[in-house]
Amino acid sequence: MKAHDGMYIDGAWRPAAGTGTIEVTNPADETLLATVPAGGPEDVEAAVRAARAALPGWAATPPAERAARLEALQQILAGRRTEIAETITAELGSPLAFSQKVHAAVPVAVCAGYAQLAADYAFEERIGNSRVLREPVGVVGAITPWNYPLHQIVAKAAPALAAGCTMVLKPAEDTPLVAQLFAEAVHEAGVPAGVFNLVTGLGPVAGQALAEHHGIDLLSFTGSTAVGRRIGALAAAGVKRVALELGGKSANVILPGADLKKAVKVGVANVMSNSGQTCSAWTRMLVDAERYDEAVQLAAEAAAKYVTGHPLEETTRVGPVVNAKQHERVTGYIRRGVEEGARLVAGGAELPGGHERGHYVRPTVFADVTPEMAIAQEEIFGPVLAILKYEDTEDALRIANGTVYGLAGAVWSENEDEAVAFARRMETGQVDINGGRFNPLAPFGGYKQSGVGRELGVHGLEEYLQTKSLQF
Ligand code: NAP
Ligand code: MG
Repeated sequence: MKAHDGMYIDGAWRPAAGTGTIEVTNPADETLLATVPAGGPEDVEAAVRAARAALPGWAATPPAERAARLEALQQILAGRRTEIAETITAELGSPLAFSQKVHAAVPVAVCAGYAQLAADYAFEERIGNSRVLREPVGVVGAITPWNYPLHQIVAKAAPALAAGCTMVLKPAEDTPLVAQLFAEAVHEAGVPAGVFNLVTGLGPVAGQALAEHHGIDLLSFTGSTAVGRRIGALAAAGVKRVALELGGKSANVILPGADLKKAVKVGVANVMSNSGQTCSAWTRMLVDAERYDEAVQLAAEAAAKYVTGHPLEETTRVGPVVNAKQHERVTGYIRRGVEEGARLVAGGAELPGGHERGHYVRPTVFADVTPEMAIAQEEIFGPVLAILKYEDTEDALRIANGTVYGLAGAVWSENEDEAVAFARRMETGQVDINGGRFNPLAPFGGYKQSGVGRELGVHGLEEYLQTKSLQF
């Protein structure tokens, strides 16, 4: 695949300061796709300098003009959706249909939403004798992961640009190609030089340099809780704003009387899609004692239909996981679940048949999982579902709330009011009621150790704004 041999800084592709490179590989067959430069502190320095220099101009650009650039960006992303889907399938390994439907399409919707918000948002309001201005926070440092690589970039870049911020992006080392494609789209959309800058590189090098840089006003990070904790500490030391989108271990609570077949089917699909590499995945299914065995049976049957395969084959529902390290991690958790005494009812740690190469994991379902097991507490980030039994609704709530995470969740009930009452008591940032659809305008973000701050919609925009009050 084609790749830029440089960093997108101050409106042009420029050679990296050093000579290090990152090899981008295809997780489906482990072939080399491309190499991109591995940036270091000097590249970050150049990018932050460009972003700082561009800030006054972009911040003073009328919101309607910023909206027009986002509108153009949305159209370019929509126009290049086939290329986007193919790029993400190549570097991440998600089935092509999923890349088209989700990885390529959702960023277009998010970008469209921010084009609209930039145009409509009240950047000024009157409070008594004050005029309150909502001004851009400044220069944003964005660090993103590989699991929804374009969505996670757009969920930061679109609101940052709408707000009048400038930014430096350090994308995940596994998925830099779609990040380069995004930089091309920003350029084509007529966003002025220096407003958006891209530094590809390794987390502990380029990412760390960005997180530590004094020229950054807000650090927005999506990824693991371990790295997020460090980023948060660095930001606090520099008295910078910070936004953290971290991991999850979300509960899918099926209340007695709910449509069990539908709840289990949708629940299994939620975990298996994107090979389980979804921070908001409902990786714990909670079922009442009476219908537990039936649910386990249904889940095992559903999981068996999720055949692993090459992401470019039309019949494939589950592609590989992103890299060898993730493969080791996920299969390690599957072995651990067995050791802890959980009952394997689908999948397992062995390689699925039919693949000589590639990081494939068998879609796996565990029954007889108890709340203290590692597979019920820790984020696995693979196609692994844990089914837990609850005695009554209070027990279900205790189990649902009984992890350090709180990113998402689901409640199923024959009575919507009952589901909503239960959802109100869940310590989590999002709950889908009876299979409610993803809403790209609704705030997304975590309670507890799932993060700080919200992305998407107007709540996401406000993360990139700070207020100034003028008194008259
Ligand atoms: P990660 O290390 O947290 O990566 C996220 C981003 O942070 C990447 O761009 C990464 O760069 C960068 N990074 C890594 N170390 C850094 C540091 N010291 N300073 C600054 N930036 C740094 O996540 P991962 O290694 O890709 O995945 C590990 C686990 O994290 C997964 O198994 C999963 O549980 C969790 N995860 C969660 C989400 C989510 O959406 N909540 C997303 C991805 C992963 P590199 O790409 O070079 O490492
Ligand atoms: Mg990493």
